[in-house]
Amino acid sequence: MAEPETVDVVVLGLGVGGEEVAGRLAEAGLTVVGVERDLVGGECPYWGCVPSKMMIRAANAVAEARRLDGLGGTVTVTPDWAPVAKRIREEATDEWDDRVAVQRFTDKGGRFVRGSGRIDGPGRVRVGEQVFQARHGIVLGTGTRPSVPPVEGLTQTPYWTNHEAIEVEELPGTLLVLGGGAIGLELAQVFARFGVRVTLVEALDRVLAVEEPEASEAAAAALRADGVAIHTGVKAARVEHGSEGFTLRGTDGAEFTAERLLVVTGRRAHLDELGLDTVGVDADGRYLPVDDRLHVTEGIWAVGDVTGEGAFTHIAVYQASIVVADMLDHVRRSQGGADPSGTASVVGGAVGAASSLAATGSSGSAGSVPRADYRALPRVTFTDPEIGAVGLTEQQARERGINVQVGFTRLASSARGWIHKTDEDGFIKLVADADQGVLIGATSAGPAGGEVLSGLVVAVHAAVPLSQLRHMIYAYPTFHRAISDALRNLS
Ligand SMILES: Cc1cc2nc3c(=O)[nH]c(=O)nc-3n(C[C@H](O)[C@H](O)[C@H](O)COP(=O)(O)OP(=O)(O)OC[C@H]3O[C@@H](n4cnc5c(N)ncnc54)[C@H](O)[C@@H]3O)c2cc1C
Repeated sequence: MAEPETVDVVVLGLGVGGEEVAGRLAEAGLTVVGVERDLVGGECPYWGCVPSKMMIRAANAVAEARRLDGLGGTVTVTPDWAPVAKRIREEATDEWDDRVAVQRFTDKGGRFVRGSGRIDGPGRVRVGEQVFQARHGIVLGTGTRPSVPPVEGLTQTPYWTNHEAIEVEELPGTLLVLGGGAIGLELAQVFARFGVRVTLVEALDRVLAVEEPEASEAAAAALRADGVAIHTGVKAARVEHGSEGFTLRGTDGAEFTAERLLVVTGRRAHLDELGLDTVGVDADGRYLPVDDRLHVTEGIWAVGDVTGEGAFTHIAVYQASIVVADMLDHVRRSQGGADPSGTASVVGGAVGAASSLAATGSSGSAGSVPRADYRALPRVTFTDPEIGAVGLTEQQARERGINVQVGFTRLASSARGWIHKTDEDGFIKLVADADQGVLIGATSAGPAGGEVLSGLVVAVHAAVPLSQLRHMIYAYPTFHRAISDALRNLS
């Protein structure tokens, strides 16, 4: 067995969360080994947020051009996928090459190791023949992979995950999308707007089932208007693939065919690969449970999708800030308050980083390290209309026994919605705790639903009293002004 090399910290998985932790700890002067088996940056820049939003930007431009008729002239739109694929290949992903990202990390002082790592006892990580002993801790940022449902025949077929969908150069004529969550809806709408005949199959009785029912209706209506055939309440029973493409059969006998099949039915962490048994941590769960400082167990932290606290880049980065502050606090304590790096300038950096984070912790802070607080977790489904949501849905609030008030308004009944011709596409829904007099959840759907959300996130996060929200001035005629209508309708 190779002699372990002692370092301060080992970060396993350099996706958004792991890269943020590793880079900031290295900048603070710690010796940090970052291990990544695929591409530094992870899912978001190469197969997730960034390229999918480039696709959406292009698809929305196509749709917006088609809306000119009746507003300001006529236009003939000929969608072309080639510039979209080129932009993803060249601008977003650098041909799926992470040289720039690796250098970004090593420039901060980190040491990069390419490979698959696993824990090998307390503080120890093995990557092939290399073994590292982490003096201060191990951080797991290993993310998730697509979770494929146990449908007969499926794994023997060349189905697509988000990877193939993002990398596609030539669009198929027809596409089956299995899964009506945010990613399925976003990609289905994009491909439909570029002329693909898309059929979307969802097992639950509505798409976007984790959000408000009104959000599901708005998303389904928008996709249907783009030509997507949506089938809810259909459980896939069997998939076959032949020269004609895919056939998907539902348990109710329904049958769907298409050239390609995209499976987007959720994601799961692969904990069994991480050697957690060597440190006494249960690896049977879907995710890795963490406390509010992202501790898994003594000397191990986790960050990002692997924690199951919300599969969003902004959650991974938020958690990374807490891990960095906590790790630096831990280093300082273990050295009796001394400089973790041994140099005065880095002390300022490390301790400064910890204390400035503590200062930003506000409601979620305890002691010198901020605690994770997901009450105001924002999420945006980037369909057109965009659907932004924060905090609890009405049903979640009622299930918690909260004395709920709901306020709803359609954007079309606001001046801006009417001017914009939003039709039935947009709305604001507010969920308030009547006893506390604050908002605990909100949904904002519309042409800029994700942007309008920001004010609502502040309201939920800071527990701004409803009386204050009612007496704010909302600019006329903006989409966000509809919030004041929804507040008036709270009952
Ligand atoms: C199509 C799509 C669109 C999305 N759009 C958005 C969006 O608009 N907004 C948003 O906030 N989020 C979006 N997301 C989610 C976002 O991509 C994730 O939340 C984010 O990537 C999570 O980061 P992470 O660091 O936890 O994990 P990941 O990005 O998954 O990175 C984990 C890394 O760990 C590596 N790894 C795993 N195991 C090991 C090991 N044993 N050794 C070494 N390396 C290992 C993997 O190779 C990977 O690179 C989208 C996701 C998808 C799929």
